[in-house]
Amino acid sequence: SDRLFGGFRKTSEKLTSNLTEVVGTAKLDDATLDDVEDALILSDLGPAAAARVRAKLSEKRFGLEITEQELKDAVAEEIAAILRPVAKPLEITAFPRPQVLLVIGVNGSGKTTTIAKLAHLFQEDDYAVMLAAGDTFRAAAIGQLATWADRVGVPLVRGPEGGDPASIVFDAVKKATEAGTDALIVDTAGRLQNKRELMDELAKIRKVLGRLNPEAPHDVVLVLDATNGQNALSQIDVFKEVAGVTGLVMTKLDGTARGGVLVQAAEQYGLPIHAIGVGEKIDDLRPFDPDLVARVIA
Ligand code: GDP
Repeated sequence: SDRLFGGFRKTSEKLTSNLTEVVGTAKLDDATLDDVEDALILSDLGPAAAARVRAKLSEKRFGLEITEQELKDAVAEEIAAILRPVAKPLEITAFPRPQVLLVIGVNGSGKTTTIAKLAHLFQEDDYAVMLAAGDTFRAAAIGQLATWADRVGVPLVRGPEGGDPASIVFDAVKKATEAGTDALIVDTAGRLQNKRELMDELAKIRKVLGRLNPEAPHDVVLVLDATNGQNALSQIDVFKEVAGVTGLVMTKLDGTARGGVLVQAAEQYGLPIHAIGVGEKIDDLRPFDPDLVARVIA
């Protein structure tokens, strides 16, 4: 797990050092519980999750002696209890095929990389994958996606820069259907600066998709950058409103001490968390394992 989640090292170090300061007191009394709660908030778990962990600790162990290791284990168990209900891997179940996955997120969040990583994961499970370059707004976006498509070895449906995303999506669904593709992953523009345009664009894509398959899009996956901390969480609010998010992928959990925001997202939004990004390489996307993540964080 150390190698897998070297990702959470900094988050874990932070929480551990915050928790270590707490235990000096042997009995779990109110003052100690206050300190535990503060330590969790300092580690980006947010007030709600921190209060919940505190309440559970209090309920189970108030007045009992507790060692540092026991405290950590107990905290990990309560974090896992928060994460378990939202852990939901992306599964290819759509019938008829293809399953259409819209991927959204602000520029720089790791959207393109995550699309490539997802394509790789699906391919490893023997699914036929196709990509669609629906982010026609950014000059570099199409080229970047094309490079990844080549590297992963999946077909890409693309149009001209500045082209109409909805018509690319239309084209892509037709091609994917003909080719017997299982999963069609659609890149979309992440222009949160212009909510209105983004909303219109996504609405148009949805309309086209709906005409071809009333069930599509089957998934609307929001990619969030953990290093953005609280900002990542406020993006959930906006994208929920604009795009009807069905699940999350959190990226860049390697190298940040802010991994606690993952727990906060789970507690606050209850949206499925599909996977986490722990590096820049193609196989650095892990299915979200709540027990492992909880153990590594605490
Ligand atoms: P986009 O603008 O949202 O499409 O973002 P990109 O996919 O181009 O990613 C932006 C940068 O973040 C690139 O340098 C990626 O290599 C990097 N990146 C993406 N995911 C991760 C991750 O999980 N960990 C790390 N360390 N870097 C990542």
